[in-house]
Amino acid sequence: MNTISRRKFLKICGASLAAAATARSIGVVPGAAHAMDLANDDSGIRTVPTYCDICFWKCGAIAHVRDGKLWKVEGNPADPLSRGRLCPRGTGGVGAHYDPDRLRAPLMRKSVRGQEEWTEVTWGEALEFIAEKMNAIKSKYGPEAMALFSHGIGGNFLKHTIKAYGSPNIAAPSFAQCRGPRDVGFRLTFGEDVSSPERTDIKNAKCIVLIGSHLGENMHNTQVQEFAEAIENGATIIVADPRFSVAASKAKHYLPVKPGTDIALILAWMNVIVKENLYDAEYITAHGFGFEQFTAEIQTFTPEWAYPLTGVNPDLIRDSAREMALHRPATLIHPGRHVTWYGDDAQRSRAVALLNALMGNWGRKGGFYFPASMDLPGYPYPTYPKSEKGKVDNPNHKYPFAHETITNGIREATITGNPYLIKGWIVYATNLFQALPNEQETIQAIQNLDLMVVVDVIPSEIAGWADVVLPESVYLERFDDLNVEWFRDPFIAIRQPIVDPPAEQNQTGGSRASLQSNPVFPNTTLGRISKSTSAIASKKAATVMTN
Ligand code: SF4
Repeated sequence: MNTISRRKFLKICGASLAAAATARSIGVVPGAAHAMDLANDDSGIRTVPTYCDICFWKCGAIAHVRDGKLWKVEGNPADPLSRGRLCPRGTGGVGAHYDPDRLRAPLMRKSVRGQEEWTEVTWGEALEFIAEKMNAIKSKYGPEAMALFSHGIGGNFLKHTIKAYGSPNIAAPSFAQCRGPRDVGFRLTFGEDVSSPERTDIKNAKCIVLIGSHLGENMHNTQVQEFAEAIENGATIIVADPRFSVAASKAKHYLPVKPGTDIALILAWMNVIVKENLYDAEYITAHGFGFEQFTAEIQTFTPEWAYPLTGVNPDLIRDSAREMALHRPATLIHPGRHVTWYGDDAQRSRAVALLNALMGNWGRKGGFYFPASMDLPGYPYPTYPKSEKGKVDNPNHKYPFAHETITNGIREATITGNPYLIKGWIVYATNLFQALPNEQETIQAIQNLDLMVVVDVIPSEIAGWADVVLPESVYLERFDDLNVEWFRDPFIAIRQPIVDPPAEQNQTGGSRASLQSNPVFPNTTLGRISKSTSAIASKKAATVMTN
């Protein structure tokens, strides 16, 4: 990983401010490092920079407010991820603010769990109830008995809450469901993750291989834009997919592989590349380990061996393997993103990583670039208490390659008490019934809890089982952490409230100044949150930290 010095960061800020002055003259307020600007043009339209929260990509955006109402969200031209364009989901983000089904007030369960009978309460009542329960859990079972399941940058504030409370049990269910196997596979091969956004140098690739990835249908904004750029530049596209996708329609070689047989296809590709000496020998000599054993292992996995498994013609396997080698190191076998499919996913991702290694493309143009980060001082949080028990999720390191908290492990401990009991869950912006396999086990675990709190914008199934449901603001109504991004060049982006959340959401007995009448930034951040608003909301407003 490259790092740049603070001096360079300050220079970037200076350059950005100059750019901001130019951009403002055309009525646009660019985001990133100078995002605290606010523009009113002659038409009375207010434009405020933020970054999108509809998916994890975090595209820089500019929100427009017309006649005091949220009007539209567009890409921020100064943002390296969106490059001035949002995907259709991002532009639709406005809908979350107006959604008639969003949660508007804290709710407390009236009867048994899962009955979905609620009483509306004030924030004070809800928080008092939660605090009492958490104190009781702590005294009886220890602080580790509370766990947090969280998704997205908005959950960072609760992560601090749980750490300060004394529990290390914080999990992101989306990791195992999405990119977990990929990051394990690449870490085992290259010693590093592919990270997020992926470090794929798509725009400079001369050959792009997609195995079950649907760039153009999935909307990871920058990747889709770069994919279009690469096609325009004449890159060769190879697609292996049971379905003839949009990407397949652009492919020189389309391999209609049978579902669940990707590893066989990748082994056959590697067999051809090794047998015909098409790999990057210099790169392998410099960085490889165990290549002789690998060569010996790969011998039997010929295209003819793969044919009955994959259904792909051996000649097509050979031709596409040779095509990959022709363009190396600017051949990129895309690592995928949502890769939890068949149960052999980490091994599948290892195979993808090894095929990339044969191309010698790690850290090379048109392959995987080395992302750069920047030094940014963190928010001065106090030191959190150290847990005596340690994490609950992976007793005796049963899963030695897991490098993130295992969500299933927390659920299991909640049921079995092994290695110790979990008695409280806070669930932020994730529907555990969809994010975890085996719904019955999730229900069984929930029935063992003394406290379950769900925080979300829209109630999902999991909210129906909560003791307390707290309404979250949508991303256009709140502060979040700075997005300090790893990318080709590092940058930071700010999220800030553009419009007020629904009035009922803040009915706490206190007054709340309106964003419509106050400047968005740089006021003292607490000035716009009513004193009686929740501790969570206060922390949000007060906190600016690195991700
Ligand atoms: S890819 Fe689309 S949904 Fe995701 S952050 Fe970017 S604009 Fe938003």
